[in-house]
Amino acid sequence: MTGMIDEEEEDVDKLLKRKISWKGVLKAILGFILIGGSVFLIQISQRGEEINTTYFMLGIVLMCMASTVMVPVPRKKKEIRHTVSILECEKCGSKRVHDYTDGDFVYKSTGIPCINCDGQYKILRVFSLKLKTKGKSKSK
Ligand SMILES: [Zn+2]
Repeated sequence: MTGMIDEEEEDVDKLLKRKISWKGVLKAILGFILIGGSVFLIQISQRGEEINTTYFMLGIVLMCMASTVMVPVPRKKKEIRHTVSILECEKCGSKRVHDYTDGDFVYKSTGIPCINCDGQYKILRVFSLKLKTKGKSKSK
């Protein structure tokens, strides 16, 4: 039963990782463009005999922007909870996991026939799983 639950969590994690890495690539590209721009500006500022402070300052500003873009901002972790019921056969004790449905409570008979014997499942436990996910709710 726990196997099923673990798989579910892994799928969610994979989905999230894919999204984050895709965004990470965009950020890295933007960061490199900004760093390139800032290095270029700082070099230009040092060409004359005196440092051109305008270009130099602009270069520093771009560098700051690059670091802001590239350093990952910690996001609030958002919890998604998923409630499941664990069913146990009254006769042979075999178990299975079901999505929680309204009105489920512990020791309630479900009327679902056992796959191993002629018994029926009753609810052994009801609990909610934490599915890890990162903040950023769907906008739009
Ligand atoms: Zn059974």
